[in-house]
Amino acid sequence: MVRWRRDPCPCCQTSPDWVCESPAEPGLGRRGLLGAALGLAATGLAMPAFATPGDRSIGVTRIGTGDTFNGVYWRDGRYDTEALRQLNWVLRDPHLDEATPMDPRLFDVLNAVAARMDSHETYEVVSGYRAPETNAANARRSRRVSKLSLHMSGMAADVRLPGRSSIGMARLAAEMQMGGVGLYRRDGFVHLDCGPSRRW
Ligand SMILES: [Zn+2]
Repeated sequence: MVRWRRDPCPCCQTSPDWVCESPAEPGLGRRGLLGAALGLAATGLAMPAFATPGDRSIGVTRIGTGDTFNGVYWRDGRYDTEALRQLNWVLRDPHLDEATPMDPRLFDVLNAVAARMDSHETYEVVSGYRAPETNAANARRSRRVSKLSLHMSGMAADVRLPGRSSIGMARLAAEMQMGGVGLYRRDGFVHLDCGPSRRW
């Protein structure tokens, strides 16, 4: 049975003694990625017509910007470079329009959790990559914001699935032990990351 603690998210709003095990990666910067309008329809996670059984697909739409990716990001035994580029942009830091190379294992977590939930919906992304400047600004406003965050390493996303309870998604994700899982029941989203398996 999964038990939830009421501690703040050690990734987003850390407790003072939390030590992030994942070093932050340098961001590509807004100059490194063109803000290509993705224009991919948010039609859910149903496997695209061009997908084959071994492919992995994902659907994400970013709250605030409306940017969406819905399609295959893994095919023929490897990650699809163009799909990752588009996903990096969708999950960028919207405050700075700055993207970073997201850890593709995060997309495997999202893919697996959706499959476990038998969901064909598109994830709504509340938060993805956070640039150090954004995180620092947040930390100045709130002492609960961590200076170390897997969001800064491109390894985390705060998400929800329309029509699904956050507590149900968090419980299933925690059982899978693919990474960190944080339940934000009041805010209606779940933090998922591809770091060490843990839950809060
Ligand atoms: Zn988070």
